[in-house]
Amino acid sequence: MQSTTAICPSLFNATTAQDGILSRIRLPAGLITSTQCEVLTQVVNKFGNGEIQITNRANLQIRTSQALPEEVLLDFQDYGLASSTQSTDGLRNLMASPSAGIDVHAKLNTIPLVKAWNFYLLQHPELAILSNKFSVCFDGGEAIRVSDRPNDICLVAVEVDQEIYFDLHLGLGDRGDSPVSVNVLISQNQVLEVLAALTEVYRQYTQQQLNQKIYLRSRPPRLRDLIHDWGMEKYLALVVEKLGYTLKPSPLAPLPLGERGTRSLEACEHLGIHPQKQSGLFYIGVVVPLGRLTSQQLAGLARLAKQSGGGALRLTPWQNLLITDIAEVDLEQVTQEILNLGLYISANHPYAAIAACSGYKGCKSAFTDTQADAKAIASHLEKCIQLDYPINLHFSGCDKSCAQHHASDIALVGKDSESYQIYVGDYVGDGEINFGRELYAEYAAHELPHLMERLINIYQTQRQNPDQSFREFVNQCDLQELREVISHA
Ligand code: SF4
Repeated sequence: MQSTTAICPSLFNATTAQDGILSRIRLPAGLITSTQCEVLTQVVNKFGNGEIQITNRANLQIRTSQALPEEVLLDFQDYGLASSTQSTDGLRNLMASPSAGIDVHAKLNTIPLVKAWNFYLLQHPELAILSNKFSVCFDGGEAIRVSDRPNDICLVAVEVDQEIYFDLHLGLGDRGDSPVSVNVLISQNQVLEVLAALTEVYRQYTQQQLNQKIYLRSRPPRLRDLIHDWGMEKYLALVVEKLGYTLKPSPLAPLPLGERGTRSLEACEHLGIHPQKQSGLFYIGVVVPLGRLTSQQLAGLARLAKQSGGGALRLTPWQNLLITDIAEVDLEQVTQEILNLGLYISANHPYAAIAACSGYKGCKSAFTDTQADAKAIASHLEKCIQLDYPINLHFSGCDKSCAQHHASDIALVGKDSESYQIYVGDYVGDGEINFGRELYAEYAAHELPHLMERLINIYQTQRQNPDQSFREFVNQCDLQELREVISHA
């Protein structure tokens, strides 16, 4: 039987939330086969509320009225929906670009590395003492980048002297910050041993801190705590000592923030129809409203993937999914069947723009019902706005920013049960809160749909040119003037 006492849910130790027992199914690189989808939908129909949620680490979450019985957990293990080692099932999901292995721009396919690192974790139950927020990401240079998603360790494929290496990035900053390059190049055949050494030094630090009771077992140190405590030089020196060889310094200068691309495009560019690197094959990026699918929708998508695709779905960290390996001749029919399931494929659909954390029904920290408030905005915008450029709108029920406001054009943060703080564009100061510039310190939740309609209309009619993103537009605005324009719109 599942235990239900976790702060951060996994499959073997779920969380008791207001709307049921919340279990998280860890899917490395967000890959789930059609057969796994069938197993999952049966369980959700029998024990759950008929709904499956995609998380912002491309996991799946389900809510059940009771703890899952032993036979379900064993079935999940049999079908690869749960780790064979219970103790490491709680570690964070391994992230890769959803288009790994199929992207024409990729420098290499990272999926074999994801699988190999996941296998390593299963063989090392001693790593169970690490923070369950310990997170590793592989970016193969795909057009759908994941290198700026918050992770403790991110390996970013780069080309140096006509060879492909990984540039080591580590998460040093606050919650939600992107990992940064630490001037180390890793050759492809060193990846696993370097990851193992980075992790083992972190494990030893964790053990030391727990022994000295500096941290509690229930809240062990994050990797960034180690780096802040010891400094980068000491951490990497201990990693090198463990490896027995030096690490190659990177000749690449890190890109300044402003040259890392426009977030709105990245978050939505996987949606719709795209050619794969495999000649004659395409993938379709499907918009999943607020990351939630009914079991019928998941079963329908799994059937489509089996009949007309590669037999698997790829969940994205933007809480959407891809169906891959579709022949050109089948594109029209598959698209129609996706629409028949009540889903969308356009990056300009309002649901493509909106992400929300679970809100007060699923999280004790939440002030607001983020899911209901986000739905109210999406259904209002669907009726009155034709978006012509993707805009990211992220809701969080509190300032812990699980909806990851660093990546949003408009951030809405629950203030009390009936209002939100609203931020837009990029934050320019150096304080702790980096959601963006504060447009309103408090705004009534029930008035948000009309506010968003006015704000988006102002952007679409007053921007400098059709290619100016919302973020670029709003970064240039005087916010007091913008408030006045909104109040007269
Ligand atoms: S942002 Fe706050 S309210 Fe939302 S899921 Fe995270 S902790 Fe809970």
